[in-house]
Amino acid sequence: YVIRREGKAVFYAPNPKKYDIYSAPVFYNPAMEKNRTLSVLLLKVAGAQMGGGLTVCEPLSGTGIRGIRYVIESGVVGKLILNDLSKEAVHVIQKNLSINGVEADVYNEDANVLLHKLRGQCDVVDVDPFGSPAPFLSAAFRALKNEGIVCATATDTAVLVGRYPRKCLRRYGSVIRKSPFYLEMGLRNLVGYVARIAASEDFAIRPLLSYWEGHYFRTCVYAVKSAKDADDMLQRDVGYVEYRRYRKVTRRQSEYTSGPVWIGELGDPSIAFFMAREGQYSDFLKLLEEEYSVSLPWFYKLPEFAVDGKSPTLEEAMAALRRAGVYAARTHMASDGFKAEATYGEVERVLRRVT
Ligand code: SAM
Repeated sequence: YVIRREGKAVFYAPNPKKYDIYSAPVFYNPAMEKNRTLSVLLLKVAGAQMGGGLTVCEPLSGTGIRGIRYVIESGVVGKLILNDLSKEAVHVIQKNLSINGVEADVYNEDANVLLHKLRGQCDVVDVDPFGSPAPFLSAAFRALKNEGIVCATATDTAVLVGRYPRKCLRRYGSVIRKSPFYLEMGLRNLVGYVARIAASEDFAIRPLLSYWEGHYFRTCVYAVKSAKDADDMLQRDVGYVEYRRYRKVTRRQSEYTSGPVWIGELGDPSIAFFMAREGQYSDFLKLLEEEYSVSLPWFYKLPEFAVDGKSPTLEEAMAALRRAGVYAARTHMASDGFKAEATYGEVERVLRRVT
């Protein structure tokens, strides 16, 4: 082991000179620093609105760095609960708690067993597994009080974007078609699945922050227990997206649709705004704030509007759309992509004039 630093925490992690992240005795991935830092900021902003003193459970803790950073950096944690199935991980978690002077209840159980024991006791449950969070989500909602936050990381991005259709159908119950905006469909597939599992436990959800970063999707949602609100949410926010060059939201599945996916807002622009004000990753968070204020659940790509092989630049396209009175925003999912409060035909008409 070596001592590392991340955020305001110091902690023991496997020596990177001796192990790669998959052969290491305890799992720590430095590439997830942004994931953890954004989660700390989210907890700080949303947790303050919830009044602080929160019970936070991280049932798949690894080295414990995430939970420890939640306590040290967010200022809203009243009680921390860490857990890992691996004995070695639990040993490292204990050491890491003590060198940071942080207290926690630490368990060595299967995550689902622990979450069931914690039924109704948590304000925040953060599910950060290898691969898919699907096996842990119903237990995560069961562990929640009448309201609270559930966060989930998914590294099975290829499955979520529909690259393995049978596996996608088995694991998420959805069909995702090829499209230029497949990353957004993957993210909305994850959020849609979280929403359907939440509904099965009588919770309605409202996404606070959802995004894609290279090798994973992540969503943090605010959940409230109410069968009526869960019914309304399923009606309003879960559906299908049809793609045949043009795009449209529909209620029914067909050979051109992706879904069921989340068709509501992917995040709360004001949460992203307040998170950006904390200073870290502020450009990225401002981009999300902008993106979350467009309601249509897809983005467009510049090459879709090429004339004689020539596409407008992003700046030209956005300026032309805005001049035409169309609300347009960048997307964090593609540097040659943009979101617009307009149909494909309307965007095409505006952009034809600039190319
Ligand atoms: N959350 C950590 C972080 O931010 O650094 C990383 C967690 S790592 C991706 C997943 C962890 O889950 C591993 O430490 C593994 O030992 C543990 N694990 C795998 N299956 C589990 C299960 N069924 N119950 C509890 N822990 C499990």
